[in-house]
Amino acid sequence: MLSRRVDHFVESVIRDMTRLSLKHGAINLAQGFPDFPAPEELKRAAASAILEDYNQYSITWGAKDLREEISRKAREYNHIEADPETEITVTCGSTEAMMASMLALINEGDDVVVFEPFYENYGPDSAVSGAVPRFVPLNDDNSIDEEALVSAFNKNTRALILNTPNNPCGKVFTANELKLITELCVDYDVIAVTDEIYEYILYDNKKHISIGSLDGMKDRTITISGFSKTYSVTGWRIGYALAGKNLTSAIRKVHDFLTVGAPAPLQHACVTAMGFPDSYYKELARMYDGKRKLLYKALIKAGFKCRMPEGAYYILADIPEGTGMDDMAFARYMVSKVGVAAVPGSSFYKSEAGRHKLRFTFSKKDETLMEAARRLEKLEI
Ligand code: PLP
Repeated sequence: MLSRRVDHFVESVIRDMTRLSLKHGAINLAQGFPDFPAPEELKRAAASAILEDYNQYSITWGAKDLREEISRKAREYNHIEADPETEITVTCGSTEAMMASMLALINEGDDVVVFEPFYENYGPDSAVSGAVPRFVPLNDDNSIDEEALVSAFNKNTRALILNTPNNPCGKVFTANELKLITELCVDYDVIAVTDEIYEYILYDNKKHISIGSLDGMKDRTITISGFSKTYSVTGWRIGYALAGKNLTSAIRKVHDFLTVGAPAPLQHACVTAMGFPDSYYKELARMYDGKRKLLYKALIKAGFKCRMPEGAYYILADIPEGTGMDDMAFARYMVSKVGVAAVPGSSFYKSEAGRHKLRFTFSKKDETLMEAARRLEKLEI
């Protein structure tokens, strides 16, 4: 007998596509991890940390020097004051930060507002924590449908999940949109849980705004981020949650009994990461901008319809008309016959809207993207 909880979700389709991609020798544009090396300095820092014997449990809520660096970064970049002693929890990736936050916040049956399209994990996060997700579809141009957002809030609403820059559609929420969300959170006494893992990957002079920095939000926001995407170390599993003292103490309790703590030597190496100069972050965004343009051009040429993302490293594309296939069938056809793996759109939608979309990542070497472009040219519809 299994728990009812696990009946409410399936295994990750994204990671499933990675397995299929390996099987067919396809180019994996499904899962969002770099196929290029992590920064040399970080690899050396991690190796030294092990040799210097940072090999035992660190403090459960994170090594002190890392929390201090995160606090400095939160002040300077996010404009959020977070006391490293009481308001920061280092977790096993932002994935754990999100799950621990939901478990700390939600009672069975509480409503949680989620924009659609959404990152795949928020479905299982809701199912495991007992939340009832209320999906609010974004407009076709990715703007917020104000009426739909307002009507999703009610007295049973406990939290809103935000993800900016957004995976899968690349939306960067604007100051006005965040103001509207803030007003609703204040009016309905709702906590914003914001996943900002792509906070440094922005294009066309877009600016990242953390909702936790807005007036009235400090004590009703859990700000989640991590090292996976900014430093190209998705396998290290280091992330964190910033929240007021009460919320943090609840998150820390869940975190302690889920994982005890994040990998100690890698936490130590993350202190080195946080010392990188501004030029590192500029170069990261510049590098991804080139990859974004490369993939966009290839998809348009192959007959997909898509928008240029404003941030993050994905393109959500409409399947060319006339294939007669839905997203699942087309993703399978792509991986086995064209040799390019992508994620079926329905992984990011509750509604039917995802049925004619695929998500591609461009977090890959230029040569990988160019080979994908060559293969996409062979797409016959
Ligand atoms: N949040 C979003 C929106 C993501 O796209 C991803 C990874 O693809 C994650 C979280 C996972 O982050 P982490 O590696 O820190 O667990």
